[in-house]
Amino acid sequence: MLTYKRCNSLFIQRGKEVDAKLKVDEVYTKIINRAMRDAESKVNSHHVFEFDRCSTHFLVQETINLRKRRHTKNFTIRLHDKWCDYKKFQKLHMPCSHVVVACKHVHHNYKSYIDQVYTLKYVSNVYNELFGKLSN
Ligand SMILES: [Zn+2]
Repeated sequence: MLTYKRCNSLFIQRGKEVDAKLKVDEVYTKIINRAMRDAESKVNSHHVFEFDRCSTHFLVQETINLRKRRHTKNFTIRLHDKWCDYKKFQKLHMPCSHVVVACKHVHHNYKSYIDQVYTLKYVSNVYNELFGKLSN
């Protein structure tokens, strides 16, 4: 019972924190904001080649690898399929740096490819009414 009450209190507190952020027009979670800043910081190290008239297929060349964890590569992007060779886009449901640079190249808003689970509205719904009242 004590664990239930503590957990309930934590969810109420977290829900209030999320709602406070929504009231000041924040849209995304801290995690996605950090990930998008990281992706945007790499944009200048990528070259984009467009492959179709609909602006959905791209080849993105990395010119330098800022973290030096692997060699520079080329990546194919298919925006309509939410697909990138690097696979981070498919796995995490958030745009990788290759998708961000491809979207910027054709003036698309890359944030439209961020999954709703990263929105504060979605998180608020998770905290909302998760715990029911216990009967005696
Ligand atoms: Zn990618």
